[in-house]
Amino acid sequence: MAEKQKAEKKIVEVERRKNSTGRLKAAAWFFWMLAIICQVAALLIIEGTIYVPENKFAMWILIMLAADIVLVTLAGRLWKKANDGDRFTMHYGYGFGIFLTKRLALIMAIVCIVPAVCWFFAADRNPDYAEEMSQAKAVAISCGADTVYWTTFGRDYHFDPVCPSLSMSKTLYEGDVSDAFAANRHRPCNFCVPQGVKTEQ
Ligand SMILES: [Zn+2]
Repeated sequence: MAEKQKAEKKIVEVERRKNSTGRLKAAAWFFWMLAIICQVAALLIIEGTIYVPENKFAMWILIMLAADIVLVTLAGRLWKKANDGDRFTMHYGYGFGIFLTKRLALIMAIVCIVPAVCWFFAADRNPDYAEEMSQAKAVAISCGADTVYWTTFGRDYHFDPVCPSLSMSKTLYEGDVSDAFAANRHRPCNFCVPQGVKTEQ
């Protein structure tokens, strides 16, 4: 009877460990996904798809990268803990799956951090749009538009602050044409910016 109880206890213990390993791994994956979201947000801010004003640019990049690193570290620890709880498989198992399981924390750290860091140093934050800019300035002068407008998302600049294509945007930024180009908004809006300058001879 005592033997049977012992065996049952052991099964319960094995099941418990398996469950906790599964939970740890699920949590690790959850944090890795959040880390990737932070990384993508940082990439989009650096690249200009998401516009943040210049005085907040560094802050947002730092916040996103710091969150990314914290989440990756946390996920890596959880993954390692899960592997430690499954020592037998980790020790005696073989094959590509085990190889991957053992090194996943490192692999995911590389996947979640290296692209953002490379992009940060490699991205051309001042692309050359001299020709488009001088054309935009000429159009602005001919239309008497001193101020242009742009939004957090979208690459267009607008002459009209109540342009129909802006109706969905919560935040509107404004400046002159140079500011819009510095904000990586270099596409004239189809609704409110006349295409090209008409010069009368
Ligand atoms: Zn417009």
